[in-house]
Amino acid sequence: MRSFEHLRDEALGCTRCRLAEGRTQVVFGVGDPAADLMFVGEAPGFHEDRRGEPFVGRAGQLLDRLCGEVGLSRASGVYITNTVKCRPPDNRDPQPDEIASCRPYLAGQLAHVDPGVVVTLGAFATRLLLGDVTGGPADPWRVPVGSVAGYRFALGPRTLIPTFHPAAALRGNADALSCLRRDLRLAADVLAGRVPTAAEALGLAEAAEATAEPVPARTGAEQLRLLE
Ligand code: SF4
Repeated sequence: MRSFEHLRDEALGCTRCRLAEGRTQVVFGVGDPAADLMFVGEAPGFHEDRRGEPFVGRAGQLLDRLCGEVGLSRASGVYITNTVKCRPPDNRDPQPDEIASCRPYLAGQLAHVDPGVVVTLGAFATRLLLGDVTGGPADPWRVPVGSVAGYRFALGPRTLIPTFHPAAALRGNADALSCLRRDLRLAADVLAGRVPTAAEALGLAEAAEATAEPVPARTGAEQLRLLE
C-alpha cells in the first residue's frame, strides 16, 4: 500500500476529472491520520477551495458545534474529507463520473486512517459508501438519506452511520438538524463503547432471530431491506 503522504501528494496534483479545471487547490482532507472517526462529506465549497481544508465555512462551523455537544472535536481523533476533493463549479452537485474518478483517494484514506466509525454527511457520501455495504444495490443513487440516517451499517469492520449534511440544516431543514444531533451522539456512543458497533449489532440480531426474540431496532437485515 502506498504511504499516506504519497497518496496525498498524488491527489494534490490530480487531473483525473474535469473538476481539476476550476479548482483553486485540491482539498484532500484534514485531521488525525489515525482517527477513530471519519466524516465524509460531499465536495469542497468556496471557502474550502480557498483554504484547502474541508468544512471551514458555515456548514463546518455547525458541524464543529454539534460535535462539541456530544464531546467530539475535530482537533482530536477525527479525520474529515469529501467524496470529491475539488470544488465543483458554482457548487453544483458532483457528477457520478467525477465521484468515481476520485474514489481511489477516499478508499486510500479509509485504508490508511482505518477509522472504527465513518459518518457520511449527505446523500452523495451516503450513497457511495452504502454501495460498499451491500456490494452494490441495484441503484444506490436513489437511496434517500432520510430513510437510512441514524442506522448503523457494517462497512467491513467499520460502523457506517449515514446522516444529513450540515448544509441541509442551514437551509432550515429542522429534521436534518435533529437527525444530525441524534446521529453524532450515536457515533460518539459507538466510539465510547456505550452502543454496539454495527458488526456487534448484526451478531446480536442473528442471535435474536434464532431465539425468536425481537430484532433490535436499526440493526441487521432490517437495515439492508431499506436498500432493496
Ligand atoms: S475531484 Fe478528485 S479525481 Fe477529480 S481532479 Fe480532483 S482529486 Fe482528481
